[in-house]
Amino acid sequence: MNRKGLEVSEHVGDLLSGFLDGELTQQQRQVVTIHCADCEACRDNLAELRALKERIAGSRLSELGEDKWRENMNDSGVELSRGIGWLLFLAGLLVAGCYFVYVVLIDSGTPFIAKFILTGVYGGLAVLLFSVLRQRLIERKTDKYKDVEI
Ligand SMILES: [Zn+2]
Repeated sequence: MNRKGLEVSEHVGDLLSGFLDGELTQQQRQVVTIHCADCEACRDNLAELRALKERIAGSRLSELGEDKWRENMNDSGVELSRGIGWLLFLAGLLVAGCYFVYVVLIDSGTPFIAKFILTGVYGGLAVLLFSVLRQRLIERKTDKYKDVEI
């Protein structure tokens, strides 16, 4: 049996995966390279294994990317509409408040006690709104934390 025959008889199937993952020593890589130059079976194995690994890596990447993309779309879509809702609501409230202050408080015809009561009502409402808004922000942070935990 000549030297070449010996090499071909010792297939490098066990080393192929490590070869593709770059886990072999310089010497082992050389063995695989030299062997595959002469052995068609191992060369085919190597090509097949490489194609398989690329397919797995590719599908994993695209799945992950799609999920991430969908998640982001949902998140930003919901948050955007929610944010616009709050913005419109608060802007309307602010305008109404200015109008209220202008019409009721500045109008000298309104009795002082009415001004006092209405200011209390409006001030209370503003404080309530602020606390609700604050609560929502805290809840949202907690939700995000839960998502990460799961
Ligand atoms: Zn071989």
